[in-house]
Amino acid sequence: MKKDDCIFCKIANGEIPSNTICEDDEFRVILDNGPATKGHALVLPKEHYADLFEIPEDLAGRALGMAKKAGEKIRAALSADGLNIVQNNGECAGQTVSHFHIHVIPRYRNDGQLIGWKPGSPSAEELAEIRKAVNGEADA
Ligand code: 5GP
Ligand code: ZN
Repeated sequence: MKKDDCIFCKIANGEIPSNTICEDDEFRVILDNGPATKGHALVLPKEHYADLFEIPEDLAGRALGMAKKAGEKIRAALSADGLNIVQNNGECAGQTVSHFHIHVIPRYRNDGQLIGWKPGSPSAEELAEIRKAVNGEADA
C-alpha cells in the first residue's frame, strides 16, 4: 500500500523526481538531500511501512541486500574508504520520515562526520538483569 501524504511513497514510486542511483520492482535508492557525506543514499521500499516493526521480515532482508548493492556501487564510484549502514526507528531514535528507509553512508578518511554513540559501562549484574528482562527469564 502507498500512503497518500507520505513523501517517500511519492519519491519511491517516481511521482516526485529524485536522484536515483538504483531501482528494482520493490525499491528505489536515492541520494539524500541532506547528506552526511558525499554519496549518502537512502533505500526506499515502494510500499509504505512506517518502520522496521511494520515491514515484513523478507522485504527487510531484501532491503539490506539493496543497501549492499548500492553501497558497493557508491564505494567504487566515489572511492569511499568505508561505509555505515544506519536505520532509525522512532523519533527518539532519530527517525524524521515515517517511511522505512536504510541510510547508506559512504565514509572517507578524515570526513569529519560523527556517527556513533557514547559507550555505557554497565556492571555484569546489570547486563544479566537486562538479558533476563529481554528473554523473559524468571529470577532464580
Ligand atoms: P531519518 O532521520 O528519518 O532516519 O532520515 C530521513 C532522511 O531523509 C534525512 O537524512 C533527510 O536528509 C532525508 N530526506 C528528507 N526529505 C527528503 C527529500 O524530500 N528528498 C531526499 N532526497 N531526502 C530527504
Ligand atoms: Zn510512505
